[in-house]
Amino acid sequence: MRPHLTPVADNVPSVPNYLAQGAECELFTQTHAAGLPLLLKGPTGCGKTRLVEHMAARLGRPLITVSGHDDLGAADLAGRFLIEGGDTRWVDGPLTRAVRLGAIFYLDEVVEARKDITVLLHPLADDRRVLPLERLGEQVPAAPGFQLVLSYNPGYQHLLKGLKPSTRQRFVALTLGYPAPELEARIVASEGGVEADTAQQLVKLALHLRRLTEHDLEETASTRLLVMAARLTRQGLGLSAAAQAAVIEALSDDDATLAALAELRRAVLGD
Ligand code: ADP
Repeated sequence: MRPHLTPVADNVPSVPNYLAQGAECELFTQTHAAGLPLLLKGPTGCGKTRLVEHMAARLGRPLITVSGHDDLGAADLAGRFLIEGGDTRWVDGPLTRAVRLGAIFYLDEVVEARKDITVLLHPLADDRRVLPLERLGEQVPAAPGFQLVLSYNPGYQHLLKGLKPSTRQRFVALTLGYPAPELEARIVASEGGVEADTAQQLVKLALHLRRLTEHDLEETASTRLLVMAARLTRQGLGLSAAAQAAVIEALSDDDATLAALAELRRAVLGD
């Protein structure tokens, strides 16, 4: 029997545009229906967040998103006591709100966060589906519709920061890469509001940049950067100048590397 889902408020936003790379939307739907948590792996700017936004809207669930950073700890997610004029009052954190509401909770770049968050994530990710609120001495059961979704970028060299096997083993995992060229050009055209030809040229540049191995770039040209370049051209900036500002400059701060990347940009897009 399907669990009863709490109706969501009337102001559910329209479904954000997402062009699928494969069967990721079906897998998302199935994990949601099965009450399973999902781990999205893939480079920055390849569409992970957009997939979650799209699926939350399609599934009719509220979405609560938190970005991982090195100061983010369990109390930031669970909640804390606040002192107000001599009184102490408990305030739910975003994860607690999502658990009570039956929302989709999306924690982006999970490996950036402090390790103490695993104490909250593990009991939510396995069969227990409860959130332990130690400070309140309470275990909050996840409302129907709740789903935990984490993302991380396995390409980063997080020396001490990989995802622990005990966490990884609790999640269904889905890997997204950059979309195939034809699809990526369609995405850049629709998201950037440009003609197919402009989008194709930007994707061509990205394919060249992604093939580079000699510059030791930490990140490469993402779909997000191509969309930004496309939006600049829509504002009237020339294609090559837009690619320089939105794509090339984002990839390095090293003068020699930037000069080599600009050379490549000129070879592909002209001056
Ligand atoms: P990530 O979360 O992987 O860092 P995002 O989901 O924020 O990346 O994607 C960056 C941008 O690229 C989005 O805002 C959107 O404009 C565009 N984009 C990437 N993939 C897609 C896709 N499959 N369909 C539609 N837009 C996409």
